[in-house]
Amino acid sequence: MATIGFIGLGNMGGPMARNLIRAGHHLRVFDIVPTAVERAVASGAVPATDVPGTARHVEVLITMLPAGEQMREVYLAEDGVISSASPGTLLIDSSTIDVATAREVATVADTAGFEMIDAPVSGGVAGAEAATLSFMVGGSEAAFAAAEPVLRVMGKTVVHAGPTGNGQVAKICNNLILGVSMAAVGEAFVLAERLGLPAQTLFDITSQSTGQCWALTSYCPVPGLVPASPANHDYRPGFSAAMMLKDLRLAESAAADVGAVTEIATHAAALYAEFVTADGRDVDFSGIIRMIRARSTVGP
Ligand code: NAD
Repeated sequence: MATIGFIGLGNMGGPMARNLIRAGHHLRVFDIVPTAVERAVASGAVPATDVPGTARHVEVLITMLPAGEQMREVYLAEDGVISSASPGTLLIDSSTIDVATAREVATVADTAGFEMIDAPVSGGVAGAEAATLSFMVGGSEAAFAAAEPVLRVMGKTVVHAGPTGNGQVAKICNNLILGVSMAAVGEAFVLAERLGLPAQTLFDITSQSTGQCWALTSYCPVPGLVPASPANHDYRPGFSAAMMLKDLRLAESAAADVGAVTEIATHAAALYAEFVTADGRDVDFSGIIRMIRARSTVGP
C-alpha cells in the first residue's frame, strides 16, 4: 500500500480520498478549509498543515482543486508541490483545468524529474462516493502505468487519452456535452409542464427514447425522479453551476485557440453565467431549470 498526499478535499476530493483510505492506502491530506481536513481525518487520514507538508515523503501526490489558477499556485509556488515533493513522487492532477496550464505545469514537473499526469474525472459526487468515476488521462505511457492502479481504486473506467493535456481535452469536450444537455433537459421538462404532460410521464418516455442522456437518467433536474439527483436536495451541489460555467468557458477558450466552432456551447455558457449571477455560485448546475421555468410565461 502506498503513502499518498491528497490536496483539495471538496465535493469530489473528500470521497475520493476516503476510497483510497478504505483500500488501505496511507493518506496525508490538506485543504485550505479546515472542516474538509477534519472530515478526512475522521475517515483515517493524517492531516498536514500546508502543501509542502503534504507533498514531502509520499509516493503519490493527488490534487483535486477548483480550477487552473489554484492548480498552478499549488504546484508552482515557491513552496509548492514541485519544489517540495521528494524525488520519484508520481504527480496526479484530477482537477478540471485549461489544457495550456495542464501542459505547462507538466513540463515544469518533467524538467524537475517528476512523472505527472492530468487525470480529470467524470461521474459526479455519486461516482466519487461509489468509486465509479471515469478517469481521462494525459501523460506518458510510464506515468499512466504507474498511476492506473491508484486511479482504479477511485474509478471504474481509466482511459489513456494520449500525451499530457489530452485528459483535459477529453474532459472539457465531455462537459460541453453535459452543460448543453442539462439545459436542454431543463427546457424539455418546462415545456412539457406548460403543455400539460406530467414530469414522470416525460421521464418514463424519454428515458427509453432517443432523448435519453445522463443529464436525464442519472441527474434529472426535476425532483423525485432519480435517486442521486441534487434536485432532490434543493439543488445542493453536486457540481456547482459556477464549476459548469468554468468548464464551458474552458471549452470556448480552447475552441477559439484552434478555430473550432462551438456556438451551442457559447449560448449555454451565457445561460449558466446569468444563472450563476442570479441564483448564486453554489447551486448545482442542474438548478438551471429554475431559471428556465421562471422565464417561461404562463402561456396563452
Ligand atoms: P470543491 O470546490 O468542492 O473542492 C475544491 C477544494 O479545493 C475545496 O475544498 C477548496 O477548499 C480546496 N482548495 C482550493 N484552493 C486550495 C489550495 N490552494 N490549497 C488546498 N486546497 C484548496 O470542488 P469539487 O466539486 O470537488 O471539484 C473539484 C474539481 O473537480 C473541479 O475542477 C471540478 O471542475 C472537477 N469536477 C467536479 C465534479 C463534481 O461533480 N463536483 C465532477 C467532475 C469534475
